[in-house]
Amino acid sequence: MANLCHLDSRQITLGIKNGDFSAEEYVSQILERIEKIDGKINAFITVDKEGALEKARLIDRKIRNGEQNIGPLAGVTVGIKDNICTSGLKTTCASKILEDYVPPYDATAVRRLKESDAIIMGKLNLDEFAMGSTTEYSKNGPTHNPWNIDYVAGGSSGGSAASVAALECAISLGSDTGGSIRCPASFCSVVGLKPTYGSVSRYGLVSYANSLEQIGPIGKTVSDVVMVMNAIAGKDNRDHTTLELVPKYTLNPTKKNIRVGLVKELVEGAEPEISKCIYSAMDLFSSLDFKCEETSMNSIEYSLSSYYTIAMAEASSNLARYDNIRYGFDLSPDGYEWNMYFSKVRSNFGQEVKRRIIIGSYVLSAGYYGKYYLKAQKVRSLLKRELKSLFEKYDILIAPTMPLLPFKFGDKIEDPLKMYLIDIDTVIANLSGIPAITVPAGFSNDLPIGLQIMANELQEQTMLDAALIFESATNNIQRSPDL
Ligand code: GLN
Repeated sequence: MANLCHLDSRQITLGIKNGDFSAEEYVSQILERIEKIDGKINAFITVDKEGALEKARLIDRKIRNGEQNIGPLAGVTVGIKDNICTSGLKTTCASKILEDYVPPYDATAVRRLKESDAIIMGKLNLDEFAMGSTTEYSKNGPTHNPWNIDYVAGGSSGGSAASVAALECAISLGSDTGGSIRCPASFCSVVGLKPTYGSVSRYGLVSYANSLEQIGPIGKTVSDVVMVMNAIAGKDNRDHTTLELVPKYTLNPTKKNIRVGLVKELVEGAEPEISKCIYSAMDLFSSLDFKCEETSMNSIEYSLSSYYTIAMAEASSNLARYDNIRYGFDLSPDGYEWNMYFSKVRSNFGQEVKRRIIIGSYVLSAGYYGKYYLKAQKVRSLLKRELKSLFEKYDILIAPTMPLLPFKFGDKIEDPLKMYLIDIDTVIANLSGIPAITVPAGFSNDLPIGLQIMANELQEQTMLDAALIFESATNNIQRSPDL
């Protein structure tokens, strides 16, 4: 039987429905692949072998019996970032504090994937509580970049991107608070989409900074992420920040003469080979009759500080629930020691999480609230206003996804500020709530470069049209890592 692991979602559903191969055959190949290479990549925290095989057999049975209710993602293998709840399957957030936590319910996005007949393969590695940009802050050790295993895979959804790039699952879910879907997708040369705030339910996503984050898909192709979005997006009564009218997305680019603004500050701030690549993307769009020009954004200078102030403030509040009363461990079987219920437990957070809780509490404290948190919120409003006027002139904005190429383990981890700085290109979309996608745009020294495309709120379709056109025009750069 041919190797099926490289197929994208559309090819998988077609192959299974046409009887070219069974869901069970396909899932068995994926399980073998995980067994063979995950020791090198470390993308998975938990593999649900039995659950996956059982679901595959169920789909095969439905097809054999000629049943009509076959879901649109029938047989497609999915990995789930380990901060998204899965009923009966451990959800650890790569943290010691939740190492044995088994949720009694599915996140809405997971439930909808299951209802679409996707096959959940297991849970994927991340920076602890999704705080980080390299997956080095995971209690389970870092995820390795499939293009060069001495390099970081990006983060915090490192497992979600690396597993797709390494063909250990067809698609995955990540979460993006300040770039965590797009950063690793760019570093691993796959497609990653951060949806408009409110288009995908956050019910069952373990909160880090809830006013900024969204669950979103990672796949090998734009068509992959479109199929996942159509399954997971839409109103959910369990998350009142979800929007009423979330459109369905299509794969037929119809829009002509898309107006493109290239964000100068972000392109100029990137490593030279990355800037070059983004300028070539603009030339390519121009040659396809898009109307392109360079544009400027003043609020970029302050966006990163605003992001980290708000993200840490929200984190300090969201992480207050890990107090060993609501979540935690059985510490003292022999006797009641009340002080263990708080202080000892919270020392189980990793360094980076502790740092954020402390800074977050500080910027929210009575004496400093106005100086930091309030100011950060004002910058957020300014940024939104600036984007609003930019989207009157342009349909999409383009920029690098990351200002630098993937780097070696240990390069940034000693200096948290250096680590924060690499999020400069991604946080704009989270602060403003707009959608953004990263698509593979090229390689330098055999390391991937991603092109970021942003659009106005709920204008995913235009963004996806541009991404699809770019993807088909750059077919020649699509390749798979040697593993
Ligand atoms: N790197 C950013 C941070 O550490 C983004 C993380 C994320 O999007 N979850 O906050």
